[in-house]
Amino acid sequence: MAMRFPLTDLLDEQESYNFLLKTLHPDGMKCKQGHALPPDQKPHDRRRDPIFDYRCRICGNVFNLFTDTVWQGSQYDCRKIVLIVRGGLKRPSTLHLADELEVDYGTLLERRHRLPKLALAHKPDTALTDEETEADEMFQNAGKGHQTC
Ligand SMILES: [Zn+2]
Repeated sequence: MAMRFPLTDLLDEQESYNFLLKTLHPDGMKCKQGHALPPDQKPHDRRRDPIFDYRCRICGNVFNLFTDTVWQGSQYDCRKIVLIVRGGLKRPSTLHLADELEVDYGTLLERRHRLPKLALAHKPDTALTDEETEADEMFQNAGKGHQTC
């Protein structure tokens, strides 16, 4: 068995949220109808901080970071999702990842099977900026030396 890292304890939840926001919504968060979230809008529900729910001012739909993404309905926190996405690209075993993140194996397996298609669908058409490349490399390097069994 590979060494078990306390990975979620080593990441910041707010930084993970910011990363997912840029990754999942490069043009900004929108409701299911496609109405953009105004920058000054206050959250509708703050119970899952920092994953706030917002109520669209135009159509009234409630939405959040995960609405209309593969993560919709997930109860995972942002740190776990960042690590799952990283793991989904680096391919440590699902059993190992589920153990390390302390999440259900079957649920994680089902979500991971949906990731490659999603990654292709969201592949950028343009080159990354230096800042994005650094962040990308940081996530790629974060798992170096990690046993992938
Ligand atoms: Zn709307």
